[in-house]
Amino acid sequence: MLKYIAGPCAAETEQQVLAVAQALQPCKIDFFRAGLWKPRTSPHSFQGVGERGIEWMTKARDMFGLKICTEVATTQHVQLCRDAGFDALWIGARTVSDPFAVQALCDSLKGYAGVVMVKNPISADVDLWIGAISRLRKVGIENIVAVHRGVNQNAYQNGNMRNDAAWVMPIELKRTMPDIPIVCDPSHITGNAALVPIIAQQAMQIGLDGLMIEVHCNPHEALSDAMQQLTPEQYRQLIDGLNVRTQNKAEKDLLQLREQINEIDSQIWALIEQRMTISKHIGEIKQQHNMPVLQPERYQQILHKRLQWAQQHNIEEQLVNTIMQAIHEASVKQQIQ
Ligand code: PEP
Ligand code: MN
Repeated sequence: MLKYIAGPCAAETEQQVLAVAQALQPCKIDFFRAGLWKPRTSPHSFQGVGERGIEWMTKARDMFGLKICTEVATTQHVQLCRDAGFDALWIGARTVSDPFAVQALCDSLKGYAGVVMVKNPISADVDLWIGAISRLRKVGIENIVAVHRGVNQNAYQNGNMRNDAAWVMPIELKRTMPDIPIVCDPSHITGNAALVPIIAQQAMQIGLDGLMIEVHCNPHEALSDAMQQLTPEQYRQLIDGLNVRTQNKAEKDLLQLREQINEIDSQIWALIEQRMTISKHIGEIKQQHNMPVLQPERYQQILHKRLQWAQQHNIEEQLVNTIMQAIHEASVKQQIQ
């Protein structure tokens, strides 16, 4: 079952929290979110209302029957939220990058029966994400959900979004930890309300397990992340309009194609094995004639030819570079053994 988490970036006033909660009540929503302690880059921007907002959130829960969640960054946040009975908590993208902070949070979460969500770190380091989830497991947390919120673009990238969607991150996490559900946060990926539905739909296409979306009754007046928040009505339309891919229907059609892929993979590996054997012989000849293993011009020639071929066959240049480099490195290794 898909999970939907929605609510404002930050709790601002009691009236604002209750207004969003009320407007979301008829929508598909599993958890109502609002940040109380906001991890802001600048000390001059809105830092969140802090502890004061806990009461507004519990009021929203009691008045509208919503489960509530917020971000925790310190053990004190965890304690306050556990005392107030929050149904879920999340560790934010900045905190996840710091193993000491994550371990301290894990220790304070011991025995917590709610859901703990873990955002991916702001750099494209999937191991930090996996590490944080492993630390939670180690202290016995059972309900863990990963949140994919994109990664920082490097300063020279000129994308139209706040972050890079970096789909390889959730894909790699699924490969490593297939039983951890992954929810996509298109609000922080895009930083732009108009693009939120596009990324939300892509997440469904990939087969992620839900969405975390920022919703505010007056997005333009929001004290944080004003550009990316949807109105409750926009949220309702987005969720109702999602084309959710259900699994298993096409299993039969896929079977035959998968068998073909398996056959091609076997051929690729058999050829790589042959190539390595030849490379080893070349290494022996180089050794007899006292020639260096590394022959950069030869590698450039092969690569150049392959890139030309790739262009004609509509194969991505980067794929050719990556594969050729890996093969070349393995060949060189063969020859220096
Ligand atoms: C948030 O969800 O409001 C937030 C601060 O997100 P992130 O940690 O992904 O930047
Ligand atoms: Mn936000």
